Amino acid sequence: MKLFTIFGNPVAHSKSPRMYNKCFKFYKMNTYCYTRTLLENGEDIIKVFKMLNISGASVTVPHKEWAYKLADEVRGIAKEIKAVNCLVLEGDKIVGYNTDALGFVESIKEFNYKSVLIIGAGGTAKALSLMFKNADILNRSEKRLKDFTNHSTYTWDTFKPKQYDLIINTTSAGLSDDNLPAPKEILENLFQNAKYAADVIYFETPFQKLAKKYNLQIKDGSDMLVYQGVLQFEKFVDFKIDKKEVAHLMKSVL
Ligand code: NDP
Repeated sequence: MKLFTIFGNPVAHSKSPRMYNKCFKFYKMNTYCYTRTLLENGEDIIKVFKMLNISGASVTVPHKEWAYKLADEVRGIAKEIKAVNCLVLEGDKIVGYNTDALGFVESIKEFNYKSVLIIGAGGTAKALSLMFKNADILNRSEKRLKDFTNHSTYTWDTFKPKQYDLIINTTSAGLSDDNLPAPKEILENLFQNAKYAADVIYFETPFQKLAKKYNLQIKDGSDMLVYQGVLQFEKFVDFKIDKKEVAHLMKSVL
């Protein structure tokens, strides 16, 4: 029996068990099972991983930084992002990876853009800023902007809208409220000149609704969820996967 889980708080809403179990079933991996674990204290993540005898885990809000700090080893882009969304037992080591940023890039691969604005300055914005080296960053408050030393950064007060092809919402505004990620006037100004709006939240948010009014091509976060999941699935199993097939399977249960 191999057990996998997602650690988060809250975690009851997570679609990950359906996505991974669908793939285990398809590949006839009858001894593999993926579940959910509500973890209140991120500091306990490795202790619980060992206690439950888990082979691999996804890590979601708000535990990615703890997973980064406590994994035995961190590999790839997670080292730069300083956040881990995937833990894998490899030999006797628990190894941390981050598949969010690559998953997002894959999800917008049909977009043709040059200039990018990232709204938000949290963990997801940090991950995406490594993929979009020329992006500007806009956040409601100043504090987290200091993490973006290689980018032009603005708060709502200091921002002077210019033309961007792609506007990305990485904030949690709209996740469990009706908020826009920035003042409406700023967004309307941006949308007048933009081609695409992408959101990391995987249902329609006020941000996406407003972008629709300006006839932008929209991408919500569901494809990102799928593609970051495909990259995690690849790490959970010990055979070469057909990524297109795994993406198709995961999408079929969303
Ligand atoms: P963080 O807590 O690290 O960052 C949150 C960011 O959102 C901060 O910049 C914060 O600004 C900003 N923010 C929060 N509320 C508002 C608001 N009402 N108005 C404007 N800005 C706001 O979160 P994460 O980066 O970890 O996650 C962000 C979102 O990404 C979540 O909704 C999460 O579910 C989603 N996500 C989706 C994935 C997918 O696969 N689709 C994968 C990973 C994440 P401030 O600094 O001022 O507090």
